[in-house]
Amino acid sequence: MDVTVIADSTADGLNPVTAQLVGAASSIGGTTTVLCPGGVGSSQASAISGVAKVISVEGDCFGTFEGGAWANALNSLATGELILAAASPRGRDIAASLAAIRKIPVIQDVTGLEAGMVVTRPIYSGKAIETSNVSTPCVITLRANAFDDAPEGGSADVGTVNQSADVGLAVKEALAKASERLDVTEADIIISGGRGMGDPSNFSHLNEVADIIGAAVGASRAAVDTWDEIPHSMQVGQTGKTVTPSLYIAVGISGAIQHLAGMKTSKYIVAINKDPDAPIFGVADYGIVATWEDALPVLKSELAKL
Ligand SMILES: Cc1cc2nc3c(=O)[nH]c(=O)nc-3n(C[C@H](O)[C@H](O)[C@H](O)COP(=O)(O)OP(=O)(O)OC[C@H]3O[C@@H](n4cnc5c(N)ncnc54)[C@H](O)[C@@H]3O)c2cc1C
Repeated sequence: MDVTVIADSTADGLNPVTAQLVGAASSIGGTTTVLCPGGVGSSQASAISGVAKVISVEGDCFGTFEGGAWANALNSLATGELILAAASPRGRDIAASLAAIRKIPVIQDVTGLEAGMVVTRPIYSGKAIETSNVSTPCVITLRANAFDDAPEGGSADVGTVNQSADVGLAVKEALAKASERLDVTEADIIISGGRGMGDPSNFSHLNEVADIIGAAVGASRAAVDTWDEIPHSMQVGQTGKTVTPSLYIAVGISGAIQHLAGMKTSKYIVAINKDPDAPIFGVADYGIVATWEDALPVLKSELAKL
C-alpha cells in the first residue's frame, strides 16, 4: 500500500513523531513517501529507514501556519491510499483539511494500527477504546509515542516541488539548487519541450534559454509527432534518445513512462508544468507548477544575470 506521511516539524527540524509515523506505515507493509511542508527536515526524513521518497514541498503559504492553505499545497502530492499525520494541533488541522478537500474519511488520534487497516483509538476522553476496520483511501492522525520509531539508516531520494504562486521565487530556487549540484566539468544541459508548448513556434523560447546556458534542445514524442517543424532527431525517450545530462529541464512535458525511460537518469531534473499532478514531478528534483508562459521569461532573465 502506498502511504503518504506528512512530516511533523518545527522551524528547528523534524519532530520525533515523524519517525513514528514512518514506523507505523512500515509495520503495515506500506511504501512510504514523506512530504516535508516548507522543505523543513527533508534531509532528516531521507535518513529514516523505510522511507522510499521524500518530497520537499515549498511554497509561499508555508511562511505561517494555516491548515487549509497547507493542505491545498500538499494535496496533489499526497498520492498514497493512506495519508498519515501526527495527532498534533497542526497535524490534526492538516489531516481534516486534506480529508475535506479529497472527500475521504479522517480518523483522528489513533493509538494502534495493524495490517488490514484495523485501527484503535481512545474515545469518550479515554474512558473507552474503539477498534474498527477502516477502508482506504483515508487520512489518519497518530498519537505521539504510541508507535515505535523507525530506525535511522535510510537514504531516500529527496525531490522538491514548489507550489508557490511566485514563479520568480521558484525559478531562483531551482537555479540555486541546480548550480549547487552541477559540476563545471560536466556542464551538459538539455531543455526539452512537450506538447504543452502549444505550438512549434513556441520552441523559440526554449532556444533562447538554450543559447544563454549552452544547452541542447530536446522534445517529447508527442511534440515531434504533432509538429513537422520539430524533427525526430530531437526526441528523448524510449523510442528516441537516451540522455544523461547534468541538468534536464522538462517544459510542458507530462512525464509519460516512455519519456522518463530516456531521461530519468539525468543528474538533476527541473520540471515546469501547469498540472500539479503531472507524473514528471515524480522524478523531478525541482518542480515548478506554472505555465511555461509564466515561468520561461523569469528563467531567461535569471539565467541572463548569472
Ligand atoms: C511504444 C511507445 C513509445 C514511446 N516512446 C516515446 C519516447 O521515446 N519519448 C516520448 O516523449 N514519448 C514516447 N511515447 C509517447 C508517450 O507515451 C507520451 O504520449 C508522450 O511522451 C507525451 O508527450 P507530452 O508529455 O509532450 O504530451 P502530453 O501528454 O500531451 O502532455 C503535455 C503536458 O504539458 C502540460 N502543459 C500544457 N500546457 C502547458 C503550459 N502552458 N505550460 C506548462 N505546461 C503545460 C500539461 O499539463 C501536460 O502535462 C511513446 C509511446 C509508446 C506507446
